Amino acid sequence: LPKRYQGSEKSVWVEYIQLALDYKPACNLGQGFPDYPPPKYVTDALAQVANSKNCLLHQYTRGFGHPRLVNAIAKLYSKLLNREINPNTEVLTTAGAYEALYSTIVGHVDEGDEVIIIEPFFDCYEPMVKTSGGVCRFVPLRLKKNVEGIPSSADWVLDPKELESVFNEKTKMFILNTPNNPLGKVFTLAELVIIADLCKKWNVLCVCDEVYEWIVYRPNKHIRMATLPGMWERTITIGSAGKTFSVTGWKLGWAYGPADLMVNLQMIHQNCVYTGTTPIQEAVAISFEKELARFGEEDCFFFSLPKELEAKRDKMAKALIDAGMKPVIPEGGYFMLTDWSPIASTIDLSSENDQYKDYKFTKWMTKNIGLQGIPPTAFYSAPHKNLAENYVRYCFIKKDENIQKAADILQKWR
Ligand code: PMP
Ligand code: GLN
Repeated sequence: LPKRYQGSEKSVWVEYIQLALDYKPACNLGQGFPDYPPPKYVTDALAQVANSKNCLLHQYTRGFGHPRLVNAIAKLYSKLLNREINPNTEVLTTAGAYEALYSTIVGHVDEGDEVIIIEPFFDCYEPMVKTSGGVCRFVPLRLKKNVEGIPSSADWVLDPKELESVFNEKTKMFILNTPNNPLGKVFTLAELVIIADLCKKWNVLCVCDEVYEWIVYRPNKHIRMATLPGMWERTITIGSAGKTFSVTGWKLGWAYGPADLMVNLQMIHQNCVYTGTTPIQEAVAISFEKELARFGEEDCFFFSLPKELEAKRDKMAKALIDAGMKPVIPEGGYFMLTDWSPIASTIDLSSENDQYKDYKFTKWMTKNIGLQGIPPTAFYSAPHKNLAENYVRYCFIKKDENIQKAADILQKWR
């Protein structure tokens, strides 16, 4: 194995998706995906494309992004950022947000460059930085002291001094994920300004993973880093059709930013997959056009989805509280971290021999109780894994009956 991949062998997804296949838990709240159908007009769009008279929709399309799709993406974000975005030079479509992240990181990070990552972080950032020869510098969000009652993701905050201390001349990139997976934190304007000022001071490129941009709960607001003064020039923002339209299996993502940065992503993309799937891009373009036409209205999916999910979030939280656990109420995204230490004394985890307690707990739960979650230490660097060992991540973009099933499983077991 090449040196640059050493240490990246383990993947929580590979391990836990296999675990679910092996033990078939009655309720799988592990990997994040909806267990109910996406909006009908989205699947209709794909059917329409499949049967279209235009047979070229089944052939290669433009490498940096299918024209109809990059046009739709540029139109949407031009509106949201209040700036004219060039569809051909400032947008790239990719194989999921994963490839957008990969092209951004590999396209900018050089041997010895430092990349600042906030913990908890979506786990693929670290191996991507290492592959590029970069060095990760981690800064954890910490739960405020003396929070009364049930905490919210807003109670997890950065220490501004600790944040400032990791910036230096070697810092090349800052990776921000808002709304955050797995915590659900939606960064406030004040928090973004602190990060933006440091990025400007140290001439750092800001990568914003905003795949959950539409999944934000009242009264929180998603603020795009690229809209802050002086940030467009140094920000690359990443999105995902999987999250935007509830079609994670379509694996379509995008990145947008200034043309002089986007050329670097385009170069990685052209020399890796060269072009993405045409029918999926056409169907996502049709879906964006539909939402653009009804943007701001009640039935626009971007507004109806978080409303629907807010009720599921509250159901999930209640089920966990009733089971004696202590959830962290997310402000965005469709995951919930929950502290299971209040019930730890009732479980004997000695049959599991993983290094970290959350791995033991989640495996034991899958095997013995039939409820699967994800161990959140997977989203931390080794020195900070202790911050997450008492937690488990559950996904709640599930049918109400399946959230109820999780509640029933927990009740019965208690
Ligand atoms: N970033 C975050 C924060 C995610 O949760 C995910 C999970 N899907 C991705 C990126 C990757 O998205 P995609 O499935 O579009 O590759
Ligand atoms: N983003 C999803 C999650 O966090 C899926 C991860 C994956 O497929 N690797 O669960």
